[in-house]
Amino acid sequence: MTQRIFKSIITVSVTAVFFTIVIITLFLNRYFTGQVDEVLKSEALLISRAVEINGEQYLKSSEFAQVRVTWIDADGLVLYDSEAEEAQMENHSNREEFAEALKSGTGSSSRYSETLTQKTIYYARKLSDGTVIRVSKAYMSIWAQLAEMILPFIIIISAVLIFSGVFASKMAKRIVSPVNMIDLNNPDIDDSYPELSTLLQKIRGQNRKIARQMEQLRYSREQFGLITENMSEGIIIADTNTIVLSYNNAAMELLGAEPTEERQSIYALNRSEEFRFCIQNAIRGKHADCILKIGEKAYQVIANPSYTGVQLSGIVVFILDVTEKQQLEDMRREFTSNVSHELKTPLTSIYGISDMLANGIVKPEDVQKFGGDIRNEAGRMIILINDILSLSRLDENSVAEDDVNVDLYSMAQEIIGRLSYYAGERNITMNISGGSVPFRGRATILEGIIYNLCDNAIKYNRDGGSVSVTIGKNGNNAVITVEDTGIGIPAQHIDRIFERFYRVDKSHSRKIKGTGLGLSIVKHGVRYHNGTIQCESSPGEGTKFTVTMPVKAG
Ligand code: ADP
Repeated sequence: MTQRIFKSIITVSVTAVFFTIVIITLFLNRYFTGQVDEVLKSEALLISRAVEINGEQYLKSSEFAQVRVTWIDADGLVLYDSEAEEAQMENHSNREEFAEALKSGTGSSSRYSETLTQKTIYYARKLSDGTVIRVSKAYMSIWAQLAEMILPFIIIISAVLIFSGVFASKMAKRIVSPVNMIDLNNPDIDDSYPELSTLLQKIRGQNRKIARQMEQLRYSREQFGLITENMSEGIIIADTNTIVLSYNNAAMELLGAEPTEERQSIYALNRSEEFRFCIQNAIRGKHADCILKIGEKAYQVIANPSYTGVQLSGIVVFILDVTEKQQLEDMRREFTSNVSHELKTPLTSIYGISDMLANGIVKPEDVQKFGGDIRNEAGRMIILINDILSLSRLDENSVAEDDVNVDLYSMAQEIIGRLSYYAGERNITMNISGGSVPFRGRATILEGIIYNLCDNAIKYNRDGGSVSVTIGKNGNNAVITVEDTGIGIPAQHIDRIFERFYRVDKSHSRKIKGTGLGLSIVKHGVRYHNGTIQCESSPGEGTKFTVTMPVKAG
């Protein structure tokens, strides 16, 4: 604005000076022309009268400093000229002023010299004898006068420029400073130019409106923040150009992202194909969801389009941590497939043998053996189904019995007794040490724990080896250890042996009967009693399982 005012003042000043000079020059020129006309007329009259009386004598004896005098006869022949040799002058019969004077007594004309710098005015007067006296005077043409004015013009313009420059700068500042001083947040209408009052009033109105809207916005944001910040689910709101408008901390934590820029695209928060696909669908107005795998975690992303009327105004994205659900789902799938596989093997044998029996292919003396095989396979299936049932009861916490008081030592003794025949077949000695440890818990589960550990200690033992069971207490904990002198478990498998259906050496394990569920049942049983289980093993030397469970007051 300052610059505009400055430029305007300078332009107006320079233009005004320019036109003033041009107009004055024009006026002066007209004035001088008029003056010369008058001088020529009166000179011509005087000289004509003098020539009428004294003839050529007058002309020759006079000196004409101001004007040029020419005496021309009626045929245009120059009889006398005050500045040139008459004889050398051409015939003047075709000169405008001469012809006019011959016709009407007086005549005038003006002509530019070749260079246009001079203009000559002629005035002619006819004498009584028919000759003509012509008086002329040259003076500067308007162009020459203007050219003459150039230097003063430049000086004046420069002076005007300097003056108006200083003046314009001061003026511009003075005009603009009150405008600059206006506090747009709170414009004072009285202190400003009256011309601006309507505008300022409008600004005040707008300011009030903006303040109201900002307050509403702040309130909505606060509410949104309060609701979303305490959510464990992530929420992101983006516009139709995918620019993130709002989000909660959970969203950034779950995606492991950090919003860096002010206007960030939602795509920058996760570069995976699934996420992009989900967002793209929502922007096209379709509900979409997908599972994102980030590290060990699984997240469900639900993207919904959001409408204002019928117009798509943005998208709302929810992010839920479904790792556990996903793991359970995976486990369920794996479990079903394992169970089917484990059941299929004995069933196939049973089917094959019974098919042979039904078709009478089996010799009568072999019937007993095949019958024994069917019983063994059916037995395997019963063990497997019992293990599965035990596990599912533990999973669902639905063991159909109450806590009872048991003595872990007596329980272990009874189990060792049950297994001693089986151990004796392979010359494995079983011994128990420690003492009575009263414990309150679910008897079937506790039995399952000790039985499975002892059963494994025999199964994975070498012939002639030993199994040592100790039952004791450590502080308020009941401690059961089952140690064997068997094949041991390589370190890399120790973490996995508690998984369902996990068996260390599949080929070896085929010879050693088992379901792969025993240690799962043990782990769940221990956990059911709020305890922990530990496994230490040296391959080729033996394995030791230690179960620690807090003793509940009976
Ligand atoms: P299984 O029915 O195969 O015995 P478990 O769940 O009881 O299933 O055990 C899982 C695996 O852990 C076994 O297949 C075996 O490889 C290993 N294992 C368990 N106990 C012992 C042990 N005392 N000594 C050596 N390996 C063992």
